[in-house]
Amino acid sequence: STLKEYIPTYNYDETRIVARLSANENPYGPSPKVVQAITEAVSTGNRYGHQDAAALIKMIAEKEGVTPDHIMLGPGSSDLLEKTAFVSFGNGGNIVSADPAYMSIISTARSLGATWKPVPLTKDYAHDLDSMAEAVDAETKLVYVCNPNNPTGSITDPERLKLFCSSVSEKTPVFVDEAYLEFLDKPDTHTMVGLVAEGKDVIVARTFSKIHGMAGLRIGYIVAQPDRIKSITNKVRSTMGMCVTSLKGAIVSMQDQKFLEDCRKMNTECRDFVASEITALGYDIIPSVTSFLIFPIEMEGQAFMKAMYEEGVGIRVFNIDDKPWCRVSMGTMQEMEYFVDTFKKVTV
Ligand code: PLP
Repeated sequence: STLKEYIPTYNYDETRIVARLSANENPYGPSPKVVQAITEAVSTGNRYGHQDAAALIKMIAEKEGVTPDHIMLGPGSSDLLEKTAFVSFGNGGNIVSADPAYMSIISTARSLGATWKPVPLTKDYAHDLDSMAEAVDAETKLVYVCNPNNPTGSITDPERLKLFCSSVSEKTPVFVDEAYLEFLDKPDTHTMVGLVAEGKDVIVARTFSKIHGMAGLRIGYIVAQPDRIKSITNKVRSTMGMCVTSLKGAIVSMQDQKFLEDCRKMNTECRDFVASEITALGYDIIPSVTSFLIFPIEMEGQAFMKAMYEEGVGIRVFNIDDKPWCRVSMGTMQEMEYFVDTFKKVTV
C-alpha cells in the first residue's frame, strides 16, 4: 500500500479540540426535526424496531427504484462493509480496489485471510478502471469502488464507471461505497444504484453519517440483488442490530430535503473557502467533491499533527507516496476560518 496514517505518538487532551475536523462528520446535524423524532421515539424503546425498519426499507426502496428485498440496513455502513466482507472472504480469495482507498472493507478482508490487489488511482485521482478490470482474476471475491473516494475526495467519470461495473459484475460482485454521494451537485448522475435495478450484481452502500449528520446514531444501508442480500442475512443479523431511535430519525431525515440541501450548500461554501485559501499559500489541493479536502504539506507529518492539535484543531495526516498529506473535514465556516489561521500559524 502507498497509504499510511500518522498516529499520534503523544497523548492529547480531547477536550481541548475546538475544531473537530478529523472524521468527516457533519457539523450541522442531525436536523432539528430528526432530534424531535428521536426524542419521541425513546419511549417506544421497549419494543424491537422491526416495524420501523420495514417502514424505512420501504422508503429507501421507493427512493432507489427497487423493491424492499433489495435493501439491507445496518448500524452504519461500516457494519455492512464488514458483513459483506465476512460472507465474501471466508475462504480467502482477493479483493481488488483503488489505492489509496477507504480501507475498512480491505482491512476486514485481509483479517479473514484474503489478499488485497491495489490499483493506483490515475494522475487525476480517478479509478484506473482498465487496470482494475485486468486485476480481477478467478480468485477475486469482490471489487471495491469508493466513489467519491476517501481519502482523496475525488470522483470517477460516471459513464465509464457504469460500463466497468456492468461488465466486471458478470465475474464478481462490485461493491460501490457512495458515502459522500449527496455532497455532489448532481448525485443522480453519479450513483450506480440504477445498475442494481437493472439486475446487475452491484452492491451500493449509503450512510446517514455524512449529509444526514447522524454519524453517532449509526445507520446506513446497502442496495443489492435480493439473492446477494439473502446471502448476507442468512448468516448474520440485519434489522436485529438496529435501534428504534435511529430508524425513526432516519425516516424523518429522508423527508427533510431542506436540511439536506442546506448542508450541501454550506459544505460547498466551506470547501471553496478552504481550497482558495490553501491554494493561495501555494499548496496543490486535490479537487474535492466531498465534505473533506486533502493536500500534501511541507512540514514533517507528526510535527504538523502535534502542532495543529495543540492549537485545538483535529485533522488527519496521511502518508501517500512518501509525502505527508493533511486531510481536513468541513466544519462550520467559523471552524474553517480557524483551521486556515492555525494552518498558517503552524506552517510558517
Ligand atoms: N465509507 C466511507 C467512504 C467512509 O468515509 C466512511 C466513514 O468515514 C464510512 C464508509 C463509514 O461510515 P459509517 O459506518 O458511519 O456509515
